[in-house]
Amino acid sequence: MIKNLGFNFDNTYADLPEIMATKLSPIAVKKPKLVILNKILAKSLGLDLSKISDEQNAEIFSGNKLIEGSSPLAQAYCGHQFGHFVMLGDGRAVLLGEHLDSNKQRWDIQLKGSGKTPYSRSGDGRAALGPMLREYIISEAIHFLNIPTTRSLAVVETGEEVIRETKLKGAILTRIASSHLRVGTFQFVAAKQDIATLKTLVDYAIERHYPELIQAQNKAAALFRAVMKRQVKLIVNWMRVSFVHGVMNTDNMSISGESIDYGPCAFMDHYDTKTVFSSIDHYGRYAYGSQPIIGQWNLARFIESLFPLLDQNENKAEQIANELIKEYEGLFADQYHLMMKNKLGMISDEDQDKRMMSDLFKIMHKNQADYNNTFRYLINGKFPNEKLLNDPDFIIWEAEWKKRISKNQNSEKAYQLMMEHNPVFIPRNHKVEEALLAADNGDMSKFLSLCEVVKKPYVENTNFEEFTKPAPATDRIYKTYCGT
Ligand code: AMP
Ligand code: MG
Repeated sequence: MIKNLGFNFDNTYADLPEIMATKLSPIAVKKPKLVILNKILAKSLGLDLSKISDEQNAEIFSGNKLIEGSSPLAQAYCGHQFGHFVMLGDGRAVLLGEHLDSNKQRWDIQLKGSGKTPYSRSGDGRAALGPMLREYIISEAIHFLNIPTTRSLAVVETGEEVIRETKLKGAILTRIASSHLRVGTFQFVAAKQDIATLKTLVDYAIERHYPELIQAQNKAAALFRAVMKRQVKLIVNWMRVSFVHGVMNTDNMSISGESIDYGPCAFMDHYDTKTVFSSIDHYGRYAYGSQPIIGQWNLARFIESLFPLLDQNENKAEQIANELIKEYEGLFADQYHLMMKNKLGMISDEDQDKRMMSDLFKIMHKNQADYNNTFRYLINGKFPNEKLLNDPDFIIWEAEWKKRISKNQNSEKAYQLMMEHNPVFIPRNHKVEEALLAADNGDMSKFLSLCEVVKKPYVENTNFEEFTKPAPATDRIYKTYCGT
């Protein structure tokens, strides 16, 4: 047992009704080796990991040694995967427990890649080094872009091989989340038709994430609306920075409103709403531009799972559900419009704003313009070798935009908004791949550089110029993989 490193476990999920989880320990690995430890995150959690050796950290974050106070378990959940309902659960993850930091904030500490569980189905319960480092870097990037997300505390190599299309190095990621409650968690209880547990789960989620709703008259409806609002904000934020989640199954949609489960995700370079990276997403279900509607589809599955609690009268429950899910469209449209106004430095409301936004997107698409660099160009006038700048339509658009923002009362504030909403640095796909390839060969230097680059995404830095460029034309067809 590991003691005295600042871990302060207070495990509430473990006390939920038995069907919600299976208690079990991570399966020990052969030869754990620390690959990366997020020291800044550790410190912010009040963990004192610098005083122990890399070897000891590797023992902890492989699950080979358990920390005092942990109460390991695999969570049960269901999910609609690409539209099909499936019984799932943590098939390769173990929740060690909930850590309370010095502000009494509660954090799940989960090991991903920790071995088989009763929910593994045909999987091996393990994960490979590349995908775990990928989750590490993308989740950190999303965090520093000011978007709610799970975070990554450590990656440990296991010293074991995992068999995918080829043999890969095994690894375990330590994931930190405000919880791992998912839409799929509610679907699981609803599928069991266990109304008492469903009520308990609603109360639990409210207490953990939305304590202001404890007194709500209709708790299920109130919880739904609160989750919907956070999910709308989250998806709008993804759209803002060109993030494509890639696998928005209902088991990958969190109740807390954090981005979760970084599988085949990636950032879009050239603006195209049909952008898909995932090798298995043949019909573009989770394409960049489909994310808003998929968000609503997933939330419809969430409200369905809450049905028995909305009203005792079935017709009334259906009416409440329909009204709630309809609110999504207005909420999304308003949040999206505000986000775009911020990106374009528009403060007042003018009649032409909406049209100008859609005109810009048409022009960007026609010119295959780099999404993030286009918005930065509007701030700093720099855009190397971009076809867009010579397009007469863009020249006219830009002139109109300049006139439009001159109507702002406060030009300093407009500039500030643009600076805060348009990143200079995103983890570009070719840079991520380059770093992962080197890391797999034991050279972490590129990965560590990328970790630095993503830390201050809104601040220009001439030292990092190469990280602002999209992939070379020869390298544009980027594919990502699930089930890694
Ligand atoms: P994901 O696509 O990562 O959201 O995973 C979907 C489901 O498949 C979850 O229940 C995972 O726990 C499970 N899963 C993914 N990979 C594996 C694996 N290698 N072994 C066992 N279960 C897995
Ligand atoms: Mg998942």
